[in-house]
Amino acid sequence: MQCQLSAHDDGEHFGLLADVGEYGTALWIRWPGTTALELAVLPDCPAAAPGPDGEGCCLFADHAEQHTWENALEEVPCPS
Ligand SMILES: [Zn+2]
Ligand SMILES: [Zn+2]
Repeated sequence: MQCQLSAHDDGEHFGLLADVGEYGTALWIRWPGTTALELAVLPDCPAAAPGPDGEGCCLFADHAEQHTWENALEEVPCPS
């Protein structure tokens, strides 16, 4: 499981486990450091890149760090 956030030194890590049936939510695993994993169903991040063809963010609402479309160096493809 790989953290989906852009590089960060502190805070919890989040890995996308699965898109769940309900629209606009996904199942995430979060783990603070090396301790126990925790499952969470979180709503999708509503932020999209500016512009008419703005790319959506692959993360969850209220996540820390950058939106995925802000992370130009390390592109994280949205799991579909
Ligand atoms: Zn992380
Ligand atoms: Zn976002």
